[in-house]
Amino acid sequence: SKVPPIILNNGVEMPQLGFGVWQVPDDEAEQAVTTALEAGYRSIDTAAIYGNEEGTGKALAASGVPREDVFVTTKLWNSDQGHDATLRAFDASLHKLGLDYVDLYLIHWPRPARGQYVDTYKAFEKLLADGRVKAIGVSNFLPEHLERLIDETSVVPAVNQIELHPHLQQQASRAFHAERGIATEAWSPLGQGKGLLEVPAVVAIARKHDRTPAQVVLRWHLQLGNVVIPKSVTPSRIKENIDVFDFSLDSEDLAAISALNEDRRIGPDPATFDIG
Ligand code: NAD
Repeated sequence: SKVPPIILNNGVEMPQLGFGVWQVPDDEAEQAVTTALEAGYRSIDTAAIYGNEEGTGKALAASGVPREDVFVTTKLWNSDQGHDATLRAFDASLHKLGLDYVDLYLIHWPRPARGQYVDTYKAFEKLLADGRVKAIGVSNFLPEHLERLIDETSVVPAVNQIELHPHLQQQASRAFHAERGIATEAWSPLGQGKGLLEVPAVVAIARKHDRTPAQVVLRWHLQLGNVVIPKSVTPSRIKENIDVFDFSLDSEDLAAISALNEDRRIGPDPATFDIG
């Protein structure tokens, strides 16, 4: 594959760049994932709540790509937290995907007021021990949630998938993850493609390298060590977003992008988000 792997804290390899399918309807997911696999993506990021595990699974099955060559992530939705509900929800996801294991299973949100993420994670540890998942982790966990999880369970999460882009650089979480051996995975790595790709500093760096703003932002993540999962349903953009392994940003470029931090979220605050 054209995408280099990172090594998770349990030795499992995860491609540093994958394909996200949030907001892709189930009947369009099959085509989008097919296009991504053809473009060389070998990591797909879905979730039970996205409603497109079936379309994703169909594309994987039809692709002819050997199962061991693709890294599949899905996520447990909020309303399925709790030990037994988690095991049932996992079975349902696996069935929809048409797989007999997933590579990475994530708790989608901590939902701290419910006090269920430790029990939920203990069910994840069982799935890991049973070989039904290759790695377990979390999403949208703040350092305080990770501290509690690490204190009360035995497997340090392999990954924390968090909102991260040049306008929300998450220095505190990234430092905490690095200290604990947790990989940082960036969701909405392009800031959902809105204003970020028109910021003059980003546009100027793109011109300098004869690349697009999206490619420059993805390079910034990769050179920081983040895992990225950009989303697009447009074939030319799907290809563009993986075509980022034959150029590098220099230290000046990296500094100019790092100067864009505004600590500004697009998505909800994990401390209070409780839908589902
Ligand atoms: P993103 O930052 O990947 O932006 C996607 C949007 O940017 C596209 O819809 C398109 O409008 C635009 N875009 C994509 N490629 C482009 C290009 N080359 N040029 C110009 N514009 C381009 O945002 P996202 O979809 O929110 O995040 C990516 C993935 O992260 C999701 O699909 C999902 O898998 C994951 N995610 C996870 C959570 C979570 O809570 N764990 C939340 C949101 C997203």
